[in-house]
Amino acid sequence: MKLDADICYRALADKDRRFDGKFFVGVKSTHIFCRPICPARTPRRDRCEFFATAQAAANAGFRPCLRCRPELAPGNSSVDAMSRLAARASALLDRNCGLDVEALAQRLGVTSRHLRRALRDELGLTPTQLRQQRRIASAKRMLTETQLPLTRIAFASGFSSLRRFNAVFREVEGRAPSAIRRASA
Ligand SMILES: [Zn+2]
Repeated sequence: MKLDADICYRALADKDRRFDGKFFVGVKSTHIFCRPICPARTPRRDRCEFFATAQAAANAGFRPCLRCRPELAPGNSSVDAMSRLAARASALLDRNCGLDVEALAQRLGVTSRHLRRALRDELGLTPTQLRQQRRIASAKRMLTETQLPLTRIAFASGFSSLRRFNAVFREVEGRAPSAIRRASA
């Protein structure tokens, strides 16, 4: 397969998982090569050289990145473990939005420090922000799919009061919960 540099660079900038394993990028300024999903800062376009295989990048004189481990089969680097952990944390919060970071970490079998790092690297969120995001997502679902009163929705999605629910919702969504309900009615 011939690589299209425009498509590759875009996938790299987006850290697009669909392209993981489809190409590798060598960074000319550092002589290191990465997977498209590498958490490192996206290199400048003119410093990138794209390869179809990890072997081709190595043959061209690039060394494998220690963060995304392009020389390992996909799924075997710590980057993948981090992203699985972030996804599991998110799913756990969807089932039980009352979990705090300690309880969450315990259920996932990691330290809270490790969990914080995974969430920051993978999602750019603190555990509190993730919990808030999942609570708002659950509230939005109820607002659009049910006729439950706002107070019920606030408590069901883990907020301690309607006032708190309104405030957080407005902060995250930029509008009041009642506006979402009106828009979906
Ligand atoms: Zn990398």
